[in-house]
Amino acid sequence: MTVVFLNGEFISRDAARVSVFDHGYLYGDGVFEGIRAYNGRVFRLDEHLDRLYESAQTVMLQVPLTKEQLREAVLETLRRNGLRDGYVRLVVSRGPGDLGLDPRKCPQPTVVVIAEGIQLYPQEAYSRGLRAITVTTRKIAPDMLSPQVKSLNYLNNILARIEVNRAGVDEGIMLNAAGYVTECTADNVFVVLRGELCTPPVYLGILKGITRETVLELARALEIPATERVFTMHDVYTAEECFLTGTAAEVAPVVEVDGRVIGDGTPGAVTRRVIAAFRGRVAAEGAPIFPQEAAA
Ligand code: PMP
Repeated sequence: MTVVFLNGEFISRDAARVSVFDHGYLYGDGVFEGIRAYNGRVFRLDEHLDRLYESAQTVMLQVPLTKEQLREAVLETLRRNGLRDGYVRLVVSRGPGDLGLDPRKCPQPTVVVIAEGIQLYPQEAYSRGLRAITVTTRKIAPDMLSPQVKSLNYLNNILARIEVNRAGVDEGIMLNAAGYVTECTADNVFVVLRGELCTPPVYLGILKGITRETVLELARALEIPATERVFTMHDVYTAEECFLTGTAAEVAPVVEVDGRVIGDGTPGAVTRRVIAAFRGRVAAEGAPIFPQEAAA
């Protein structure tokens, strides 16, 4: 039976409930992380924890556990659910308060860790590639609500996702107010332009994806030229290759954008090299869930 970590206790899935007065529910007031476990190891757990505490710092939310305690809660939730591979959702919300939005009325933040098995896209999405559109929903500007804060306020992305669903495609590319490519509804975006791997810089208003960082690292190791730079949809349409990165999506090729075929319409050579290197990295690296196994 699935058990969920809720405020320090492990509770069965059906009994794990939070208050309707929780400001995470009433106002989207909270922060979260999506984390993956592969082959008995949690990939980049410390980076995810750091990002969670950074999001919390900006919204002045005091996480009621130390990083070490939260780290252990993630590992223990995976252990108690017998998961060697899976997806972990870590949520810290402002906690129960009154109906006003004042966070001072919420003395006790809510901490939840959920672990489940997951596969976002079917395997053929990786071999055949995804179709994407540019959505009309613009990315919230960094001076409004920083996209670097991974907050429970995902309506901007959800509005974009609704456009994607209505178009019957797989993902949506979001632009900033000036029309430059930022990221997708739940992934970062890369293109290959004249042999160079390009992804938008963080200052443009994107989440600093942990998979994005991993891919930039892998590119260095593979000696693929890579740069963070501003680009437009023209660059996407004329790119040799395009792919998305995210904890859930991993590295996913994109072969069509707004009806334009990208490259030759199949996942390109650079994308395939990055996917292979990424799979090697996630299988080998990470915090062991079952330490006795790692020591053996
Ligand atoms: N952008 C957005 C808006 C996201 O929600 C995500 C997924 N958390 C990403 C990018 C990818 O980030 P990561 O690689 O850290 O999962």
